[in-house]
Amino acid sequence: MRKWKEVQEMLWGKWVMSMDKQSLQEELLDVVKLTKQYLCEQGIKVENSVQAECAGGLLDLKEKVNNCQKCPLAKTRTNPVFGAGDEHAKLMFVGEAPGKDEDLQGEPFVGKAGKLLTKIINSIGLKRTDVYIANILKCRPPGNRNPEPSEIAMCQGYLLEQISIMKPKIICTLGKFATQTLLNSQQPISQLRGRFFEYRNTKLIPTFHPAYLLYSPGEKRLVWQDMKKIKTEYEKA
Ligand code: SF4
Repeated sequence: MRKWKEVQEMLWGKWVMSMDKQSLQEELLDVVKLTKQYLCEQGIKVENSVQAECAGGLLDLKEKVNNCQKCPLAKTRTNPVFGAGDEHAKLMFVGEAPGKDEDLQGEPFVGKAGKLLTKIINSIGLKRTDVYIANILKCRPPGNRNPEPSEIAMCQGYLLEQISIMKPKIICTLGKFATQTLLNSQQPISQLRGRFFEYRNTKLIPTFHPAYLLYSPGEKRLVWQDMKKIKTEYEKA
């Protein structure tokens, strides 16, 4: 696939006149696809049919996840959990992996920790449907054990593709695994949380995972501080 700059040059070039019919058709399809993608990426309001291309990209990706057998978790999962929420959301939450309830329902953050996440989202005046929620791993590790580095390595490409299709303005990573994976850092979450980092043209802020807060309610105060920072940035975005 050509880069946008090359396509611009091609559009103004005269060499197209010398192409045979088949090549010309292929080149034009390439231009149309790339132009649609570019408009989506820039958030330019266009017809519904063109906007659907953004969602189309996610649908194709979801299909890949549903059929994925890349790691051993494919054999133990009930359902893969792709992600949920507004595909055009400014704010995306990224957690670790599905738990038991998520595995059964195929939806992210629907158990006790999920209910707490909903309250956290509501605390800044947003609903779950205003944001997008995904995980680093799309399938549940048995017994909710920690993700293995090899599983993260095999699965994280899906999340990175989700991010590059959706282009959220702010990403809030929940807990150690999501934070360390996206920031490519080994620093503890307690040192990383509450600070904005530049990440792929997005602002990324780590905070504690809601499951951790269920066992350490005293830390909710810090998450509240982080959410206030997100709210300020969200209103500017
Ligand atoms: S966890 Fe990710 S890599 Fe492993 S099977 Fe599921 S979708 Fe594929």
